[in-house]
Amino acid sequence: MLIDTYGRVATDLRVSLTDRCNLRCTYCMPEEGLQWLAKPDLLTDDEIVRLITVAVRDLGVEEVRFTGGEPLLRPGLVGIVERVAALAPRPQMSLTTNGIGLERTAAALRAAGLDRVNVSLDTLRPDVFTALTRRKRHADVLRGLEAARAAGLTPVKVNTVLMPGLNDDEAPDLLAWAVAHDYELRFIEQMPLDAQHGWQRDGMITAGDILDSLRTRFTLTPEGHGERGSAPAERWVVDGGPHRVGVIGSVTRPFCRACDRTRLTADGQIRTCLFATEETDLRAALRSGAPDAEIARIWKLAMWGKKAGSGLDDPAFLQPERPMSAIGG
Ligand code: SAM
Ligand code: SF4
Repeated sequence: MLIDTYGRVATDLRVSLTDRCNLRCTYCMPEEGLQWLAKPDLLTDDEIVRLITVAVRDLGVEEVRFTGGEPLLRPGLVGIVERVAALAPRPQMSLTTNGIGLERTAAALRAAGLDRVNVSLDTLRPDVFTALTRRKRHADVLRGLEAARAAGLTPVKVNTVLMPGLNDDEAPDLLAWAVAHDYELRFIEQMPLDAQHGWQRDGMITAGDILDSLRTRFTLTPEGHGERGSAPAERWVVDGGPHRVGVIGSVTRPFCRACDRTRLTADGQIRTCLFATEETDLRAALRSGAPDAEIARIWKLAMWGKKAGSGLDDPAFLQPERPMSAIGG
């Protein structure tokens, strides 16, 4: 098991398949100038599948989530999904994507064994989408969402970050739209993980702000008596049900005590936390011929050192070097 000194057990593995992206979301990437990881440093498809196999077979990982950068840009994605689906025990598999290109790949991903997708969409207004992502691809995302539902990659979840002055007035409209289309909406507080290091706590839209805004139009009842277990999203029943809305208050309502995640970057580094400033190099072990048992030992040791929390509230908090696009959300 991937257990740490606080007794938490990591069963949810996030795998970043690339640091590249076809959008430039302001809270994630700079407009230009971000250095990509060098090709030889990226794990190959075989290396990724081998590490996931060790995690699932030997280390108790039950859920694998593919992310990026934009994971749909990874040419071998469908093949990776297919090989992970063949593992025993078979893990749950999901994909976090900006939705561009999903229209073409949703059916193949489903056939390969993908269970679900989370599609990121912050606005219903094409002009605001262009301002937020610096690309005119709003219609592609909407088509990707439709395709995901048609392919049975359900429940389709939609991830939304609200930015002050841009889309912070859209929470109720987004929820009405999500309910009408049978998507499960989850708002994520903006975190200090942008490549430009421009995040400011004072300016961010908090979980409290989001709930206040939603309550102007909807009745929200806490799901499961406010218990959220290891799930980062606090979920609310919308207008008596059946639809739900999630709010992930990573900054103002942290869930570190129940965290069950371990992360693998596209260049083969283990991260114990989104906000970790240290990484453990699995790629070096892999490429020096380490057997599976040694890989498992290094992974366990890395997780044993997982810190209690994100450190966001510590005055000495340091934003990690890696931007979100190279960690994977
Ligand atoms: N490109 C894919 C996407 O956008 O879904 C996968 C990678 S992206 C880094 C994963 C998630 O992280 C997205 O839902 C995105 O909105 C979220 N994200 C990126 N930067 C963030 C930040 N600074 N704070 C909060 N969420 C962020
Ligand atoms: Fe790309 Fe996702 Fe980052 Fe947006 S949030 S720039 S889509 S990696």
